[in-house]
Amino acid sequence: MSECLFCKIAEKKIEAKFVYEDKEIVAFRDVNPVAPTHILVIPKVHIENILGIDGNLGEKMLQVIKKIVVSEKIEKGFRLVTNTGEHGGQTVYHLHWHILSGRHMGWPPG
Ligand code: AMP
Repeated sequence: MSECLFCKIAEKKIEAKFVYEDKEIVAFRDVNPVAPTHILVIPKVHIENILGIDGNLGEKMLQVIKKIVVSEKIEKGFRLVTNTGEHGGQTVYHLHWHILSGRHMGWPPG
């Protein structure tokens, strides 16, 4: 997916502040953070959203999220969000989990 922003980040064609990388997954800081800690976790393979997840990729992403929560020292509290589709508020159509922390999170979300 040559036109996909997050594919380009995963391929290092666009700069990002990476916090994690393995064979299948990368994580980097959101360029426009909405919380003191705001990290995006994405698969390297282009998948639009969680409906495209195959095999054990979902589990692997959650394991990576756990590692990042520990390395960022945000075990006290955080929120995981994956905005999906137009009604879900998704703006980049490459699967990503937002890890948000460092401030109180309201409910319900907007
Ligand atoms: P969503 O609206 O859920 O699809 O989230 C897309 C996220 O990508 C937003 O929080 C943006 O701030 C973030 N974003 C867009 N461009 C970049 C970029 N070049 N580097 C890091 N984060 C980005």
